[in-house]
Amino acid sequence: MTTSISPLLRGKGLPEFQAISPELVSQDIPVLLEQLDRAFSELEKSLESALAGPSRLSWDAVMQPLQAIGERLRWSWGVVSHLNGVCNSPELRDAHATQQPDVVRLSNRLGQSQILHRALESLQSSPADPLNATQQRILKSELLSMQQRGVGLSGDEKAAFNRTSERLAALSTQFGNHVLDATQQWTLKLTQPNEVEGLPQRALEALAAAAREAGDAEASAESGPWLLGLDMPRYLPFLTHAKNRALREQAYRAHVGRASEGELDNRALIEEILTLRREQASRLGYAHWADLSLSAKMADDVPAVEALLEELRAAAYPAAEQELRDLQAIAREHQVPEADDLAPWDVAYWSERLRQSRFDLDQEALRPWFPLPKVLDGLFSLCSRLFDVEIVAADGEAPIWNDDVRFFRVKRSDGTPIAGFYLDPYSRPASKRGGAWMDECLGLKKQPDGSVVLPVAYLICNQTPPVGDTPSLMSFEEVETLFHEFGHGLQHMLTTVEEPEAAGISNVEWDAVELPSQFMENWCLDHATLMGMARHWQTGEPLPESEFNKLRSSRTFNAGLATLRQVHFALSDLRLHSQWTPELGVSPDGLRREIAATTTVMDPIPEDQFLCAFGHIFAGGYSAGYYSYKWAEVLSADAFSAFEEVGLDQEDQVRATGARFRDTVLSLGGSRSPAEVFEAFRGRPASTEALIRHSGLVAAA
Ligand code: ZN
Repeated sequence: MTTSISPLLRGKGLPEFQAISPELVSQDIPVLLEQLDRAFSELEKSLESALAGPSRLSWDAVMQPLQAIGERLRWSWGVVSHLNGVCNSPELRDAHATQQPDVVRLSNRLGQSQILHRALESLQSSPADPLNATQQRILKSELLSMQQRGVGLSGDEKAAFNRTSERLAALSTQFGNHVLDATQQWTLKLTQPNEVEGLPQRALEALAAAAREAGDAEASAESGPWLLGLDMPRYLPFLTHAKNRALREQAYRAHVGRASEGELDNRALIEEILTLRREQASRLGYAHWADLSLSAKMADDVPAVEALLEELRAAAYPAAEQELRDLQAIAREHQVPEADDLAPWDVAYWSERLRQSRFDLDQEALRPWFPLPKVLDGLFSLCSRLFDVEIVAADGEAPIWNDDVRFFRVKRSDGTPIAGFYLDPYSRPASKRGGAWMDECLGLKKQPDGSVVLPVAYLICNQTPPVGDTPSLMSFEEVETLFHEFGHGLQHMLTTVEEPEAAGISNVEWDAVELPSQFMENWCLDHATLMGMARHWQTGEPLPESEFNKLRSSRTFNAGLATLRQVHFALSDLRLHSQWTPELGVSPDGLRREIAATTTVMDPIPEDQFLCAFGHIFAGGYSAGYYSYKWAEVLSADAFSAFEEVGLDQEDQVRATGARFRDTVLSLGGSRSPAEVFEAFRGRPASTEALIRHSGLVAAA
């Protein structure tokens, strides 16, 4: 009699998604964690005796067993997390939440193991065989990550470090909960038609649905009541379209004042978080938290980030001032009394009026030209042009988790298979997390017997589903999202790095990881790419040239204001984490207002306590890293400009440049420093010129 291995513990191959139940998760994950815990103890034991012995450690002796442990955890817990995102149910969510703390505990144990740390150090300084550049880089980042988890501390320092880590985790959770509660707490019931005048149908429906949920069973989009709230799907359309200025002001003041008073006041939490982070940084030998954060990123140091942000700020500021004047001009045309004295709650509203009058662009009306099958054809033929790969449908050849899901194979043009990917395109609000993402299903791996496991990616979007015979008709934004995630997927799938710790997106610095994804977005407005795929789903007609031009020219609309806003956030984050201390004599909000003097064209109002809702840096992973959005955009725009330089219509040159992008950015992954990879592609370090030009921020000559 043979006992078959549980589908959750198999640890290799494509998972049998449908066989993995919540019960199996509760039953098997503890078994797995115990096995891995034991395996790690054995590894520690053997490393300890090896360290005491006369011979040097080899890469394989340390890294192979470590990788095997990590991979078994990644494979099994990866499937559970994946299903939790795409096939959620209360039972699965419970099973996931119950196991998560133990998973974290195991990975902390690995990350803080003194023996492992000593073994890695010994491997770094005196390996049995010379290490290649990739191996050296992997070791360097492993050691850095362990050092930042406090492995080098001992005694009281270590105890204080661990206590503070826990306190910081609790503060982050509390901060996030306050924002969530403050956002949900505020609602405004609207009953008069003049209170919702100007709102598009979709927004009216969302407000009526919220009213129904809150107990107004009769609420309808046409006759109300409508329940306004501060969550983005309700707040943003209201600020953008509502004609009623007094209500816009009321909602705006509530929004920027979230979590800044009463029981949900985050101000004290901000000071405590900043103070504790500074302490942690100093325990680890850094001057401040920003230095700690940047030590693991592509950006060298605080001055380097400041310099980049200043280049963008200087280009964006005059443009933003002009954009504000343009908003005043259109408000004047509409003869509203506030035209000469616009307030923050007027900006989105008049921007939308100006956008409509300038571009006459109705994004909804473009959907029929972007049916998913045509968009995929366009995306795949772009990949074939640029990277010399064929992408073919392979539905039915791999287990799936939902009937919407498709499976594809990626091959070289000579037919050699190199990767595969799942595409789960449509929104399923009841069981699928919102947003879009790429995740790893399988990583490239050379087996001991010489055979190779090919990488497989999950590409998850949340776009408009098909209805009856109508295919999924995508908005232009949804097209960009698909290209974006596909860019992440390409880096995972086209990797040639054989060390899993540095293959694909692994070991790529946080501020460089969005390079391939944002790079791919640029192609959505490339004439040949867009016009090649935009075909009316019924008539087959191409998108009218006039609509293409509107899309193209609207891209830089209000780019000055948008850039300045990101610079303002990034600089506030950076300076709070490098300059602020309780002794500075100014509150975090005060420091932010000093920064606002040169990074906003409209002063924040007194109630504006934006920091109290800045979850990215106080509740998420972006502390002293918010600048990464712009940093990676500089890289991606500059990478795309290599294609512009050779001429986007010069087919041979475009192909050659694409091959170079494939052989550097897409294939080298985390095996080299991102600056080195970028230079290998571009022949020089990155420059802000392309991003500034693409954003239309260059003053007309
Ligand atoms: Zn991304």
